[in-house]
Amino acid sequence: MPEYRAPLDDFQFLLHDWLNVSDHYRHIGKDDIDAELVNEIIAQGARFAESEIAPINQAGDQQGCKLSDGKVTTAQGFPEAYQNYIENGWNAMLGCEEYGGQELPYSVAIPVHEMLVSANVSWRLVCGLTESAVLALEKHGSDALKESYLPNLISGEWTGTMNLTEPQAGSDLSLLTTKAEPNDDGSYKISGTKIFISGGDHEWTDNIIHLVLARLPDAPRV
Ligand SMILES: Cc1cc2nc3c(=O)[nH]c(=O)nc-3n(C[C@H](O)[C@H](O)[C@H](O)COP(=O)(O)OP(=O)(O)OC[C@H]3O[C@@H](n4cnc5c(N)ncnc54)[C@H](O)[C@@H]3O)c2cc1C
Repeated sequence: MPEYRAPLDDFQFLLHDWLNVSDHYRHIGKDDIDAELVNEIIAQGARFAESEIAPINQAGDQQGCKLSDGKVTTAQGFPEAYQNYIENGWNAMLGCEEYGGQELPYSVAIPVHEMLVSANVSWRLVCGLTESAVLALEKHGSDALKESYLPNLISGEWTGTMNLTEPQAGSDLSLLTTKAEPNDDGSYKISGTKIFISGGDHEWTDNIIHLVLARLPDAPRV
């Protein structure tokens, strides 16, 4: 079975010798994050990628996902690895503290993400989409939406997806035709077709939150 060895020396060189992240963290008021802590996080991330995530990569290629009786199951070891991932706090690295996240700088999380992608891209893709959904809600959600969704998305109790692509709208999302029409109760009626949605269904969590990009009635055509 192919092995994955994380290039820890390269990450440390980039973060400390080249970018001098500790100085930057001090500058932005995050002086509790020093070089020692960064190295500890990325070393633990490397251990997780090498020993837990890389070994299930081959099962992903060989078995893939299966749809049976309306339920999607992923490859052997994938759900257990996800449980391990959230129990060890990896899912919460970037989420805001107010909703249970660690609010670490992206420069600390990115090396860990890079190692996980290199070890097993299909497994990691699902986790990455949850982070995107969290980011979108943190930046643009109302307080009510944040309170409803962020705690469980940040802890990893639920996963999230990003529904952007349509059959006629891939690289050029201005071509999307999915509609969001307001209902009287403040919700929206969504109609349209989305394709290629990573993590769109699986057995890892009891709930999956789908963020759907759609056109409001008064949206500009392009
Ligand atoms: C593994 C995987 C996971 C995905 N997950 C998601 C997901 O979670 N959510 C989601 O919404 N979508 C997802 N997608 C879809 C992805 O976002 C689209 O595939 C992507 O945007 C490209 O769109 P397309 O496939 O329609 O290709 P097209 O946009 O039709 O592109 C086809 C080709 O034309 C080229 N091209 C396009 N526009 C131009 C241009 N203006 N000038 C020159 N060349 C151009 C492209 O480079 C490409 O070679 C996923 C795709 C993959 C492969």
